Amino acid sequence: MSDNCLFCKIINGQIPAAKLYEDDDILAFADISPQAPTHFLVIPKKHLSGPGAATQADEALIGRLMRVGADLAKGRGVEHFRFVVNNGAEAGQTVFHFHLHVLGGRPMAWPPG
Ligand code: 5GP
Ligand code: ZN
Repeated sequence: MSDNCLFCKIINGQIPAAKLYEDDDILAFADISPQAPTHFLVIPKKHLSGPGAATQADEALIGRLMRVGADLAKGRGVEHFRFVVNNGAEAGQTVFHFHLHVLGGRPMAWPPG
């Protein structure tokens, strides 16, 4: 838990979210401003500002984010999806609690903007 972290507040219930999945270590919820027909976030309950702050001790947790994100997408019939993780403001990060974006349901362009 980090003070004034929006996603920590979602984890502890201070701010509501449309939850898709939750266990002891991970929470998935719909993005409030979806950029694709399917757009949800998968986050660790442990506060980590982003992948740049992860250590070796976080490897299994980060792997689980991807596995859970893929299973949730496929469970919604979304076989083609994109994972995005922004690290740092210049990379587009606006919430400084590690989050895996899962986007799908429309064709995706490359390179990203
Ligand atoms: P970033 O730009 O940091 O990679 O992504 C942050 C994401 O969090 C954005 O896609 C934004 O729409 C989403 N977001 C910001 N505030 C809230 C909120 O209060 N609730 C939910 N569900 N998503 C949020
Ligand atoms: Zn946090």
